[in-house]
Amino acid sequence: MTIQILPTVLINQIAAGEVVDRPASIVKELVENAIDAGATEISIQLEHGGRDVITVSDNGCGIQNEELHLAVTPHATSKIAEEADLAAVASLGFRGEALASIGSVSHLAITSRTQHDEAGMRIEVDGGESNEVVPTPSRVGTTVEVKRLFYNTPARRKFLKSDSAETTRVRDAVQRIAAAHPEVSFVLKSGERTLLQYGASDTKDRLISIFGPELTSELLDVSYELGDMKLWGVVGTPDVARPTSRNIRIHVNGRTIQDASITHALKDAYKGLIEPKRWPTAALYIEMNPALVDVNVHPQKSEVRFRDKNAIWRLVSRGVTAALHANDIVATIQAESAPVSFGTGEQMQMIEQETSTWLRQETPLPTIRKSDEVMQVQKCFLVTQDEQGILIVDQHALHERIMFEELYERMKQQKLESQRLLVPESIQADGARIELIESHQALFTNLGIEIEASGPASISVYALPTLLVSRNVEGSAFIEDVLDLLSDAHGDVDEESVLVDILDMMACKAAVKAGDSLTQTELKDLLSKRHLYDRSSRCPHGRPTTMRLSIEALEKQFGRR
Ligand code: ADP
Ligand code: MG
Repeated sequence: MTIQILPTVLINQIAAGEVVDRPASIVKELVENAIDAGATEISIQLEHGGRDVITVSDNGCGIQNEELHLAVTPHATSKIAEEADLAAVASLGFRGEALASIGSVSHLAITSRTQHDEAGMRIEVDGGESNEVVPTPSRVGTTVEVKRLFYNTPARRKFLKSDSAETTRVRDAVQRIAAAHPEVSFVLKSGERTLLQYGASDTKDRLISIFGPELTSELLDVSYELGDMKLWGVVGTPDVARPTSRNIRIHVNGRTIQDASITHALKDAYKGLIEPKRWPTAALYIEMNPALVDVNVHPQKSEVRFRDKNAIWRLVSRGVTAALHANDIVATIQAESAPVSFGTGEQMQMIEQETSTWLRQETPLPTIRKSDEVMQVQKCFLVTQDEQGILIVDQHALHERIMFEELYERMKQQKLESQRLLVPESIQADGARIELIESHQALFTNLGIEIEASGPASISVYALPTLLVSRNVEGSAFIEDVLDLLSDAHGDVDEESVLVDILDMMACKAAVKAGDSLTQTELKDLLSKRHLYDRSSRCPHGRPTTMRLSIEALEKQFGRR
């Protein structure tokens, strides 16, 4: 094969693969451009999840008539001019490749006008081919339209998910940017439906509109300084921890980023306060010297590299811990757990059938004899014995595991039993949530949930799984968590993991809690089911359900050995 230089259009299409892989990343680039242009009002309109049309309009400074053709040219930018600028980028964009990339994989049209221009100008780009710039009436600002995305790169178009899944991603992307720019008003519409509408406000109010008004009293202020780095924002109380990390927002110098190490530092501050599988709610803003953070490391600019990672970790973990302490939220015990293995359910069944083989097993498996007394301690732990010592069982964790397995088994065979509510529960919802329930009706039916939009901003729950009703579980909180999980799954609901997460959540909510007193029969019933399931030494969240104090350890402690 001969080596040849690729044509520009192909070069841009290749770049587009990294920068703009779906409607959400296009919206992100266009909204960032609007913010860089000083816009205070940004509106976004989608048709069919953005695959047919994405329109972003702003009231920013606009592009001068004679520069409009440059805006769609690769490597053309007004934001940096020399190498030194790259070391301390203050704008959101700087590579000058977004518009060129978008233009190479769609029909792109930009209409723009600055306050110095008499009229607006419009340029169209079709699959990388720029047309003449033509005068067009326009107010000051810019409107970018992206039509028939990936029409000339079918392989890429195939990677797009359902309209509602793409819409959800766009909504997430807009929400993330909106959290960093409360002074800007945003409207996001999909077809006729308004999905988001945020008026200009301050950070706290913007976050409340994003996280939902029910979190108002659950957000604690964070304010911390380390050297010349500043951390501020809000974190949620442990009560509003979520099954996914979607309520974690991280911003560095006005840029919305994802960062595993900051997320871990945040989670670390909650150690002992929330279950390992749950995630805190948080919006953190870090301000630091831009020269100490490299923003040019990720094609979509959604990750950055810190010069001093440890300092960032300290800033976040100390800042969040301080906020929790200031509000008297403290983990008192951080016990080391030494979980026991009870063997798998299959092994246990085998043992029940063939008692004689069990003595020959390498590690003897413990059994609780029916005659053994069970004691409930502090309405929280069950204490009993097996051959090897004293067993201490967390009643909630064990019940949760058992319920989870029962639900999972039932769900595999048929749908869950459902019970109609005497009074339907009403839940606040935005357009995106409504779309989410509409597109997942089958799943809801299988879960025994009857749910429908009852207005432009509300949904009603008519029926819930019998299990939850019989355990007096608050329906709205459960539905909120389910919607969070679904929206995080971006439409991939066939994935077993989403179902497992939902059932996990159901089991957790329905299981007996610490503080529930149990009768002797209930205690024994709970323990007798322990052997039925695989993994029953762990609850679905991965916490141990049971610990053993072995006779051997006790003998050592008491000086008998
Ligand atoms: P970058 O943002 O990295 O500079 P883009 O391809 O996104 O690259 O945009 C190219 C240039 O077009 C920008 O540098 C800016 O001058 C201009 N531009 C793009 N969008 C807008 C907008 N909404 N308002 C004003 N100028 C814009
Ligand atoms: Mg840009």
